[in-house]
Amino acid sequence: MIYAVISDIHSNLAALQQVLDYLKDRPIDEIICLGDVVGYGPRPNECVELVRKHCRICLMGNHDHAVIGKTDTYYFNQYAREAVSWTQRKLTTYNKSYLEGLPFAHREEDILFVHSTPLHPEEWHYILSEYEAKYYLKHLAEKICFVGHSHIPGVFSLKKGGFFQEEVDLDLEHDKYIVNVGSVGQPRDNDPRACFVIYDTSRQFLEFVRLEYPVEQTYDEIIANKLPPFLATRLLRGY
Ligand code: ZN
Repeated sequence: MIYAVISDIHSNLAALQQVLDYLKDRPIDEIICLGDVVGYGPRPNECVELVRKHCRICLMGNHDHAVIGKTDTYYFNQYAREAVSWTQRKLTTYNKSYLEGLPFAHREEDILFVHSTPLHPEEWHYILSEYEAKYYLKHLAEKICFVGHSHIPGVFSLKKGGFFQEEVDLDLEHDKYIVNVGSVGQPRDNDPRACFVIYDTSRQFLEFVRLEYPVEQTYDEIIANKLPPFLATRLLRGY
């Protein structure tokens, strides 16, 4: 099985389209989305429609949850909060009902998919340090857990700690992994290119993919829709 695992699209249609176009030419069995389809960006409806068309599985992200009124935006920063209420006004009833049906977790054999953390994914905690990752890895029943949420791509392993490599041979016999797939629509690792992973289960081979996309298109749409300008400028440098 070859999975493409994408996350944190955040209504960035230009980035999502680039990723889907690229994946047409790769032998992918399944595209799984870890959530945060909306929030921050200017094209929520188009992104939800593309995800529902291309991904059999899409999970609930904290921004999706906030947009359907189920997560309090109290702990969101001001930009995120503004974008959530803008998205609530823009999103069609049909697309809102799709977001309402998203699950918090999905399991396939020895792989767990969540947006935030493997334990209580609905609490939206972050896995940012080796210390935090170790806690979750010890409690992880599966061999691999794919997460998004922080928008910072990388791997945490029980044996090797935290690291980033573009290509990783996993050792599922002797180790367990939390893989942060990064963000398609709002990368925050100082690289503005869209980020996601491809994972081949038979070879236990993980690949991080980065793609340039027409970022100025999303930039212009954020400004034109009077969303906070910071949400546009951050895309240019990926922070
Ligand atoms: Zn996010």
